[in-house]
Amino acid sequence: MDKIVPAQYQPALPLDKLILQDGAAGAGDRMEFDVLIVGAGPAGLACAIELARLAKTDGTELNIGVLEKAEAVGEHSLSGAVVNPRAFRELFPDLKDGDFPFRGPVTKEAVYLLTKGGKLRLPTPPTMHNRGYYLASLCEMVRWLGAKAEELGINVFTGFPAAQLLVHDTAVAGVRTAPAGLDREGKPTAGGTPPNDLVAKVTALAEGTRGLLAQAWCQWQRVTSENPQIFALGVKELWETKQPLDRIIHTLGWPLPTDAFGGSFIYPLEPNLVALGLVVGLDYRDAGLDVHVLLQRFKQHPLLRALLAGGEMIEWGAKTIPEGGFYSLPERRAGAGIVLLGDAAGFVDVPSLKGIHYAMQSGIYAARAIFQNLKNGAALSEYDRLVDGSYIASDLYRTRNMRLAFRDGFYLGGIQAALMTLTGGRFPSGKYRMHADAEVPRRVSPGLRPGLAETSIGVSKVDAVFKSGNSTRDTIPSHLIAGSDIPVEVARFYARMCPAGVYEAHDLDVGAQRAAPLLRINAPNCVDCKATDVLGPRWTPREGGSGPKYKRM
Ligand SMILES: Cc1cc2nc3c(=O)[nH]c(=O)nc-3n(C[C@H](O)[C@H](O)[C@H](O)COP(=O)(O)OP(=O)(O)OC[C@H]3O[C@@H](n4cnc5c(N)ncnc54)[C@H](O)[C@@H]3O)c2cc1C
Ligand code: SF4
Repeated sequence: MDKIVPAQYQPALPLDKLILQDGAAGAGDRMEFDVLIVGAGPAGLACAIELARLAKTDGTELNIGVLEKAEAVGEHSLSGAVVNPRAFRELFPDLKDGDFPFRGPVTKEAVYLLTKGGKLRLPTPPTMHNRGYYLASLCEMVRWLGAKAEELGINVFTGFPAAQLLVHDTAVAGVRTAPAGLDREGKPTAGGTPPNDLVAKVTALAEGTRGLLAQAWCQWQRVTSENPQIFALGVKELWETKQPLDRIIHTLGWPLPTDAFGGSFIYPLEPNLVALGLVVGLDYRDAGLDVHVLLQRFKQHPLLRALLAGGEMIEWGAKTIPEGGFYSLPERRAGAGIVLLGDAAGFVDVPSLKGIHYAMQSGIYAARAIFQNLKNGAALSEYDRLVDGSYIASDLYRTRNMRLAFRDGFYLGGIQAALMTLTGGRFPSGKYRMHADAEVPRRVSPGLRPGLAETSIGVSKVDAVFKSGNSTRDTIPSHLIAGSDIPVEVARFYARMCPAGVYEAHDLDVGAQRAAPLLRINAPNCVDCKATDVLGPRWTPREGGSGPKYKRM
């Protein structure tokens, strides 16, 4: 085999399991809410806070519930992050920037084009200007927002993954949660808990990137977009360094191949606490590409080696980012009993690597539309109207083709993106058509040797998962749905694609083990980055509290 088209090996979305008639047998408890929000990220919590405030001001009682799959708020949150404070200011008009959970303002910035041993400083493109913005950890911001939500009387249920959408005819009626305490075969154990049904007048899906229920709703209701959504995988490390860093840095070029889109970010949360990461579009063409290994190679560049020498890597994590921008937004983000927020809707501007303020702003708009819906029956489509008339839509429209231009490779993409920047997105005109990442053919190649992990600043996937704080129960059933008869080349592609070492490929030529499956799945290692759901086996929610325990990602 010399080419792999991942879609040929990917199971379909299990819609029959994801969409369930309300009242279906099998649930334990049933709870009723006015509004149920799935996901305690910036989008979900901003929505909850704005809703509670509107209700309080109006003297209305509202029962708002927020479900979060992590064991504690923020433990599944990962970002860069440089934050545009705009949505924080709108949500908390009585507070000053100094009151927000930011680490400090961005004062200096640099952009470099890297070669293997060298660097060329580039003028900062307008989309990458970050003056006036703030450095922050998403975990810390989300914990702060979670505390604000609880002060307002909102119930945040952590360790509760929503696993299925409950529906009445074509309306969404709530969610069914994932059961806990199943054995490896998926059978209930003595201490386990069955799934619960949580029903609500409105359900807001704020599940973040590659939201499972958002995908299911769009497919079920045939909500399409002009282009399919595309994704990037970001792998990130947090370092305590001996050398201080006084500026944020973005790099392009090495170690990425020229037919992959991406770059790095290096952000000082404190002068000696540095967040660094590599983000690579999942439409890469080389099946041997491994983002985690590329990040280890990136750290060997003189720019990084000098910064990290003598330092210590204290946290590691990975997450995908929806990159499609304007043309990948669902044609509507509201329907009967449902709205989609933040990354689950695709509100990310990739040229500036920003999604947090769009997520929060979409949560604020959703809250306003939901409140009017509950109070006087106004249609939830008001949410779409608010988003479409806002800076969310206009920012994404301005950079609409910029990421898409890089489907033609780094150099051609770079020239076109520069022209788009100069003309405010007007030239080259028209819409760039994209294929879903899983439909992009990959050439089979041996890929990079992962040996770089053995250097003083390198880290293997096994150690990386440990540094994510992942302590998922070993006896949990697999939450990953793989196709059958996966060829060894595809198994190797999965092994490289997954930053957490969940997949192992076993060659046919292993004599006695010939009968063993070629693809082995170490499901407990999974850190919920969702890359697998884009390119390989399907991801589904598992027992609450599984996965990473990020602290400052
Ligand atoms: C490497 C990287 C760097 C980035 N850098 C920046 C940056 O510098 N600046 C910036 O503005 N943006 C940045 N972004 C983008 C930004 O992080 C996202 O746009 C933002 O976090 C989206 O917020 P959200 O609330 O929509 O989703 P999330 O922050 O992903 O939150 C979703 C929440 O929902 C929970 N959840 C998911 N499914 C379920 C379920 N079924 N049941 C219960 N809970 C569930 C998750 O555990 C999570 O807590 C970056 C992203 C990455 C990956
Ligand atoms: S198995 Fe988990 S960690 Fe690995 S790619 Fe898939 S979602 Fe990410």
